[in-house]
Amino acid sequence: MQSLDRLIRALRRMPGVGPRQAERFAAYFLRAPQGEVEEFVASVIGMKQDVKLCSVCYAYSEKELCDVCADPDRDPGSICVVEDPQDIEAIEKTGAFKGLYHVLHGAISPMEGRGAEHVKIKELLHRLQNSKVPVQEVIIATDPDTEGETTAMYLADLLRDMVPHVSRIGYGVPLGGDLDYLDEMTLLYSLKGRTKI
Ligand code: ZN
Repeated sequence: MQSLDRLIRALRRMPGVGPRQAERFAAYFLRAPQGEVEEFVASVIGMKQDVKLCSVCYAYSEKELCDVCADPDRDPGSICVVEDPQDIEAIEKTGAFKGLYHVLHGAISPMEGRGAEHVKIKELLHRLQNSKVPVQEVIIATDPDTEGETTAMYLADLLRDMVPHVSRIGYGVPLGGDLDYLDEMTLLYSLKGRTKI
């Protein structure tokens, strides 16, 4: 069935969706009322049209500035660097960080031929150089896996002469883990236990 195969192929492009799961999702759409399917499709298209990247930190935002960057109570002198927009939500839940973020949209991976130019490092340097308030601290909160570590080391080398305090979260973060899967307490302690690199 051509149209069913087409949907299954599209579903399988989503992260973490295997062939069995794609078939189950397709079956769900087949059985679901027409209105529900239309709402699903409309919400995907609407989200795609409305959600852009914040012009300062590159987090997802429906406005020019995301809620964190637009908040006057946040400290612009402290920047937490994360790989993915979802990581921000995880750190926000801890309530332990009152600065701003910078989203790299990935990590450096020499194995996969992904260099520094594939993530938003250039944008971070530009931001640090042009910041109205001098940035005193950069916390590198990339994932605790090989790619995240590679990125952290690369960034630490670049930032050492630009920013007085460069630190890396570490304490309690399991190696090989994914930042946005961590529970709040683990992330809270890892933020508090960050070390200078
Ligand atoms: Zn922002």
